[in-house]
Amino acid sequence: MSPNPVRPASVRKCPICSKPRSEAHTPFCSQRCRDRDLMRWLDEGYVLPGPTIDPEDEE
Ligand SMILES: [Zn+2]
Repeated sequence: MSPNPVRPASVRKCPICSKPRSEAHTPFCSQRCRDRDLMRWLDEGYVLPGPTIDPEDEE
């Protein structure tokens, strides 16, 4: 009989680069990927304060 192809739930991968995650940086593999995920989250959900440049204002 062949082994079950379904991976055990304990095997988790880094959501950024799909490498095996590190215990120290779970659920990521490294501090770099942790920062990347944070930066992506900030870029999507955080608006920088201050004046925004409107491209139509130049005309
Ligand atoms: Zn990673």
